Amino acid sequence: MTLEIPRTSRAAVLEEYGQPLRIHEVSIPAVGPGEILVKVQLAGICGTDVHQSRGTLTIKPPLPNIQGHETIARIVRLGAGRSKDVAGAPLSVGDRIMWAHADCGQCYWCQVARDTVLCSSRQGYGFANPSLLRGGFAEYEHISAITDVVRVPDEITDEEAIGVGCAFRTVVAGFERLGGVRFQESVVVLGAGPVGLYSALLAVASGAHRVIVVGAPARRLELARKWGASHVIDIDEVKDPRERQQRITELTEGRGPELVVECSGVPAAFNEGLEMLQKGGRFLVMGQTSAATLPVAPGIITGKALTIVGSVSASIQHFYKALQFIQANRTKYPLSDIVTTRYPLEQINEALANMASGQEIKPVIDNRVR
Ligand SMILES: [Zn+2]
Ligand SMILES: [Zn+2]
Repeated sequence: MTLEIPRTSRAAVLEEYGQPLRIHEVSIPAVGPGEILVKVQLAGICGTDVHQSRGTLTIKPPLPNIQGHETIARIVRLGAGRSKDVAGAPLSVGDRIMWAHADCGQCYWCQVARDTVLCSSRQGYGFANPSLLRGGFAEYEHISAITDVVRVPDEITDEEAIGVGCAFRTVVAGFERLGGVRFQESVVVLGAGPVGLYSALLAVASGAHRVIVVGAPARRLELARKWGASHVIDIDEVKDPRERQQRITELTEGRGPELVVECSGVPAAFNEGLEMLQKGGRFLVMGQTSAATLPVAPGIITGKALTIVGSVSASIQHFYKALQFIQANRTKYPLSDIVTTRYPLEQINEALANMASGQEIKPVIDNRVR
């Protein structure tokens, strides 16, 4: 099968921080050996995109750029030599794929540490110059030859899969670094955004005794319940952290949880987690991405013999495993409920504003919506 390729693609371009993205016609680059041209099915909008467009990320990508780093897309053209995905599944024009940021394969972190998320020269999607067409807020996207891709199984819908593009693969990687949830542990998840929701889901599916999600707004907590969380605490209602901790202590036999997963990104949540953990507990920190500082009592870590694990991003194996999980569990949990609104590309600025206000869980750009 061959599909016709237009000369240009519409794309939403970030030209200046704090200014609306503008729709441009961008030339579609040629598809060289190993490269792939895809047509975007869904592009998820992330909290990171809001910060990126405002220029408040700790690392500012050069301007102009095309945002959108969580994409599910259909293959339009396969470059010479690219015939399989990372798991060996054959790739054909028309297949849907997802992909990770490309690690260089040559630095210390790639070759010696073998921890590719720490690669010192990762080639990112959603941060690059428009001429490279390497962002999801566009009609087409161009995948480089060093980028690993995974084929999305046919029975999984776009909506079920879209979380794999960012939040879910981050959670799969984080839980792997942690060493997994232990049998019948009590787990508290701080934050009810997509990372928090997928953390709750994975804790439930991993055999946790109870999973308590602390966050807001009510709409997100409702989804946490649908995905199996045993308790939710709405921070819009229980505003005092001491009261929240008291409730959690009551729900965990007076000892506190064995595992806390930080997904809120609020710096103060780090201290809340330290305080509530039971002695010998483990703390997985995934949400903290700001450069903010705060006073901490490190003695708590020693005194309670806590284990603290940080985790960032994910590699292609986590995309693959997340998709495997979805394939096996899609009838057990309403996974597509994560998608709250579909916007056409032209309404990208409205979508970003609604993401920033917290009214969305996972808004998506869908080029089929007019
Ligand atoms: Zn993201
Ligand atoms: Zn590297």
